[in-house]
Amino acid sequence: AFQADTVPQAPEDPLFGLMAAYRRDDDPKKVDLGIGAYRDNNAKPWVLPVVKKADEIIRKDPDLNHEYLPIAGLAEFTSASQKLLLGADSPALKEKRVTSLQTISGTGALHLGALFLSKFYRTNAKRTVYFSNPTWPNHFQVFSNVNLEYQQYPYFSKETRGLDFDGFIKTLKGADEGSIIVLHACAHNPTGVDPSQEQWKEIAKVMKERKLFPFLDTAYQGFASGDLDRDGWAIRHFVEQGFELVIAQSYAKNFGLYGERAGCFHFITAPSSDAEETTKRVASQLAILQRSEISNPPAYGARVASTVLNNPELFAQWKEDLKTMSGRIIDMRKALRSKLEELGTPGTWNHITEQIGMFSFTGLTEKQVLKLREDSHVYMTKNGRISMAGLNTNNVDYFAKAVDKALR
Ligand code: PLP
Repeated sequence: AFQADTVPQAPEDPLFGLMAAYRRDDDPKKVDLGIGAYRDNNAKPWVLPVVKKADEIIRKDPDLNHEYLPIAGLAEFTSASQKLLLGADSPALKEKRVTSLQTISGTGALHLGALFLSKFYRTNAKRTVYFSNPTWPNHFQVFSNVNLEYQQYPYFSKETRGLDFDGFIKTLKGADEGSIIVLHACAHNPTGVDPSQEQWKEIAKVMKERKLFPFLDTAYQGFASGDLDRDGWAIRHFVEQGFELVIAQSYAKNFGLYGERAGCFHFITAPSSDAEETTKRVASQLAILQRSEISNPPAYGARVASTVLNNPELFAQWKEDLKTMSGRIIDMRKALRSKLEELGTPGTWNHITEQIGMFSFTGLTEKQVLKLREDSHVYMTKNGRISMAGLNTNNVDYFAKAVDKALR
């Protein structure tokens, strides 16, 4: 019989544990730099103005109901998502080599992709998955839950606080043919360090030579630079190179739809004369997996995103909202760096403005992080990552002074 008393205690999720500790702290100066969710300049969650508009449009629709969506989700949403990622005139779309399902945000897309690979990926008997070191910690659980083994490729250089490009390439060259390589398409979490376009080209070239399989994770398109095309460049480059690949796409950050769980999984078949037929068979199997796991995805977040993505006026406003979010974060990077430099805080701080997206890898050690929490009520993850969105014009000086104090 199943004996529940044999179930071992699991550790608390570090990030959600940090959030709880922050909530318990009643010091008015406390600063939350933990979770990766956008905050406005008053440290409050921000509902994008375009999302409010889309919401009004949806609510006014007299035919709105709460029926099930199809298994693959809202078709207007998945097709607009393909165009957003690949470009409306992508050959992959014209050649019907893309199949997409709406998922439970980016995590659900990663899971569906991992599950599909665990069942059908035959190129490499070992099917080793490679993650960047470091990576978003949930990657480990999502892939090991479906019994895929993982290794890591070097990514972050402690010396330069930038990309360890040589280490990365060397590991790709040494990986078994057919290994699955998980790549953060833009705004790498947790480091904020992305390859340059030249470096992406080299990564793709080596992966092609070594016959490695790209699993692209995109959770920050438009949120990183404020420019959807620029943040989508790496994905388009890989697709142009004719790879067979998969993409996990999240709308949590770029639409501020965190809790609504809007995302997509895309499978792109390599160009060939029977690619369309292959894609259909892949779609049929994905539908079965989706049906057994969630039956069909939740409607509201996809309706909101779809309303915006399919309406040129709202789409233009979304781009403005993306600029608001990314622009405020870039301003905070500048403010933090200049304050630390002004204080003469030990170390160099150029990486703060060179890194991109929601996070910065400060270089603070675990000991310094804990000291900041104890002395200054600043909450960040133990690896020294800060969510830039937690900084604002009211607390950036306070935070810089606290870092300065912790480093002396
Ligand atoms: N992938 C990366 C790298 C992320 O940082 C995140 C969110 O933090 C996700 C995927 C998926 O998030 P969600 O499931 O909320 O869309």
